[in-house]
Amino acid sequence: MVFARKRFGQNFLHDEGVIERIVSAIGPSPQDALVEIGPGHGALTEPLLERAGRLDAIEIDRDLAATLQERFAGQGLTLHVADALRFDFAALAVQRGRKLRVLGNLPYNVSTPLLFHLLEAHGSIEDLHIMLQREVIARICAAPGSDDYGRLTVMLAPWVVAEALFEVGPGAFRPAPKVWSAVARLTVREAPAFPVDARFGRVVAAAFSQRRKTLRNGLRALLDAAAIERCGVDPGARPETLTPAQFAALAQALPSS
Ligand code: SAM
Repeated sequence: MVFARKRFGQNFLHDEGVIERIVSAIGPSPQDALVEIGPGHGALTEPLLERAGRLDAIEIDRDLAATLQERFAGQGLTLHVADALRFDFAALAVQRGRKLRVLGNLPYNVSTPLLFHLLEAHGSIEDLHIMLQREVIARICAAPGSDDYGRLTVMLAPWVVAEALFEVGPGAFRPAPKVWSAVARLTVREAPAFPVDARFGRVVAAAFSQRRKTLRNGLRALLDAAAIERCGVDPGARPETLTPAQFAALAQALPSS
């Protein structure tokens, strides 16, 4: 029986095969500035430290943090007992003198806000290897026109190239979650794929809050049909058929606030 705190989204990996696949996908090296979010009991921490020799980890649970501190004493672990949602990733990159390679079997209950928080520090992050609920990974990596394509896909697109790697069944964790998980690699772009500002988020949120509606109806409060057409977009189209760059074009048509 494993003691797990539900409020911290704790499901601990124990399947050695899955752990090895994740570590190989990351391909850690001693030059890397690795940052693990939510090390838990250290299932990933241990093999990562063995290969990279040093690692920063952010753990919110003080009891787990105390055990980790003891277990990995003198082995290159810098433990930050903190909430990853408030953690200053940009400052850590400055301290480490290089961009960060972030990874984690993330707490599923805070996955979306955590991804958005990480992207605020996009200039300080090289890549992310994340395990999340399978459906969320599918949304992150979806292609336009597919059922999974939505707000999360489009909001991440300017900043990262997302790649789904493999799926992981509930039996790989203790306690076993009710859902399947999946692992993805998000490689942060050197520069955004197209210019984005706050207007991008407004257009994307409005369009997908009315997923079944055409853009003409969904964006009614922001842009009329003629303005949508001037951006080279069909006002009769549904939001899931637009590429991220087309959303960016619509955003540019809004008055800047
Ligand atoms: N990495 C471990 C593993 O794979 O076995 C644990 C994964 S468990 C799904 C999520 C971990 O994230 C837990 O250790 C939990 O305490 C921690 N956690 C939850 N919310 C957090 C937050 N906001 N900031 C930092 N760590 C958090």
